[in-house]
Amino acid sequence: MSCTVLIIEDEDSIRKFVKINLERANFNVLDAATGEEGIGIARNNKIDIVVLDIMLPGMDGYEVCKILRSEFSHLGIIMLTAKSQDIDKIMGLEYGTDDYMTKPFNPVELTLRVKSLSRRMEKAPAEEEAIMSFTPFKIDIYSRKFYKEGLELELTPTEYSIAKLFMENPGKAFKRDEILNLVWGYDFVGDSKIVDVNIRRLRAKIEEDSSKPYYIETVWGIGYRWRDRD
Ligand code: CA
Repeated sequence: MSCTVLIIEDEDSIRKFVKINLERANFNVLDAATGEEGIGIARNNKIDIVVLDIMLPGMDGYEVCKILRSEFSHLGIIMLTAKSQDIDKIMGLEYGTDDYMTKPFNPVELTLRVKSLSRRMEKAPAEEEAIMSFTPFKIDIYSRKFYKEGLELELTPTEYSIAKLFMENPGKAFKRDEILNLVWGYDFVGDSKIVDVNIRRLRAKIEEDSSKPYYIETVWGIGYRWRDRD
C-alpha cells in the first residue's frame, strides 16, 4: 500500500530531516509546523500515520493527539518525546499512541519504526480467511475491524494487532518480549512496559471488567494469554 505520513513538528531542521528520510523510504509525506495546521491536514487528506511532536507552540502534542484519536481511531501515531516525559501517560488510555521516540533520535531509527507500524497496519491479502471469531468477538482481517457482540470497537492499530495475535493463538502464553517482537516487529531496546500499557488499554475496551480480565489473562512471571476455548 502507499502509506501517507504526516509530520507535525515545529522545528524546521527536524521536520525536514525526518521528511527526507521517510521519502527515501518511499512514504508519501505531508508536514505541518503547528498542531492546528496538522489537524487541518489530517481532516482533508487520507493520512495513515502521524509523527507527532509533544512540544509544539499553541496546541501541544497531547491535545493534538486526543483530537486525532477521537476522529480517526485507525490512525497510527508515533510521538516524539523528551526524556522527562511519562511513557505511561503517552501510551495510556487517554492518548493511545502506537509508539514513541525519545529526542534526540536517529532519523533512520524513526524510519524503521514508521515502516514497522505501516506493516502492522497492512490489510490482509485477499486469499486469506477473512473472518476470525472467538465468541463474542469477531475480527474482519480485510477491513481490520474488531467486533464484540456485533458492534464495532474502535481499536488503535496496535490494539488491533495484539488482539489478532491473541485470537490466532488461544491458550498460548506469550512473553512480553515475544509480544513486542511479534507486534512492534523490532527490538524495542528491552522496554516491555509498552506491552503492559497497550494490554491495559485493550482490556479497558474489550473486557466487561478490566480489573478482573476474563479474555486476556495475566500469566505471572511470563506475560499474557488469551483465554483458551472452553
Ligand atoms: Ca517541538
